[in-house]
Amino acid sequence: MRKVKSVIQPGCEPRVHRVVSYERIASEWKPDLSFLVSIQSDNERVGIEQLRTAGLSNLQWVQCELLEDGDVVVPHSAKGETVVLLRESDTHHALFLTNRCNSYCLMCSQPPTQTDDSWLIEEAIDAFRHIRKAPQVLGFTGGEPLLLGLRLRRILEALAAFHPNTKAEVLSNGRLLSDQKLAKEVLDGLSISVRWLVPLYAHADFVHDFVVQSPGAFDETVSGLLTLQAYQQEVQLRVVLIEPVLKVLPDLAGFVGRNLPFVREVAFMGCEPIGFALANRDSCEVDLSKWNDTLEQASRVLRRHAIPHLFMNAPLCALPKGLWPSASKSISDWKNVYAADCEGCSVKSDCSGLFAWHEKGWKPAPLKNMKAKEVHA
Ligand code: SF4
Repeated sequence: MRKVKSVIQPGCEPRVHRVVSYERIASEWKPDLSFLVSIQSDNERVGIEQLRTAGLSNLQWVQCELLEDGDVVVPHSAKGETVVLLRESDTHHALFLTNRCNSYCLMCSQPPTQTDDSWLIEEAIDAFRHIRKAPQVLGFTGGEPLLLGLRLRRILEALAAFHPNTKAEVLSNGRLLSDQKLAKEVLDGLSISVRWLVPLYAHADFVHDFVVQSPGAFDETVSGLLTLQAYQQEVQLRVVLIEPVLKVLPDLAGFVGRNLPFVREVAFMGCEPIGFALANRDSCEVDLSKWNDTLEQASRVLRRHAIPHLFMNAPLCALPKGLWPSASKSISDWKNVYAADCEGCSVKSDCSGLFAWHEKGWKPAPLKNMKAKEVHA
């Protein structure tokens, strides 16, 4: 989630607003939305104050070069910062629903807390109202969104009501869908197309349960996956490439092919060097270039079972060339950077690059700037 330094109208409430430039107020203003007007001069600030005095009390001003028209934001005037929830020009769009979780994964990028953050539910629904141009896909993350139970359903139905052409993606460990009562409440007759992004880390319970630090999680997740199949939901399996997972990756691929052939695809993901991953560096910091044979083997197994798969958060120079067609530019826009070593690399435009915080953590492999002739060799 981006936070940008801003000078905000004193007294502006910290709730959802849509950013609009001064010139576009007339074409975008609606009485039931809150607008944060991005001003460029004192004259524009005075103009907003006059409009407020005239009755347009849903206008507030902000000074910040980093905000864009259409941003859906929450301003915090006392802190002098604006949180950008959604940005129209981004490729990937996601809303954070809770920081609570029922797992405790070794490489969790967003370490869970127990604090009551149920206000995020209303914030998400308010964000839908303030979106100017509906995204094709909107992701929901946590924590574990299924801990919201019926309130997750409410969020999904609200998205369908405001933006019927937007597809939802829910990142969930799926464990709570082993509870058939909850599964029915959340999934039965759902009016929106949802893709469930479910992490699975091994073919065996003791490995998966170790990675997610939760005894019994493997059985619950597999049961949840079968429930998603029963409700004809689309599933992408997510496999984060840390050492305990890489050690069993071909076995996991075989398990998926034999037991979960209904999954739409498997996403192999480079580990994000942040959160618990930094504390569990021994298990999480891997040089993917040393595991290329394992990645190719897992890919071969999935191909044999006709299960599509892709590689996310993995730069091209960390992958064997044969897997490049399966590599995806997946890192969220605001987290995505390229290193100085990437300058002039001939495959940069197709490469996922790195997480912005790789300097504090690690790179997924030593970077290898590609010359055009090496690429075509
Ligand atoms: S050098 Fe940089 S741009 Fe080139 S493949 Fe590696 S990470 Fe990607």
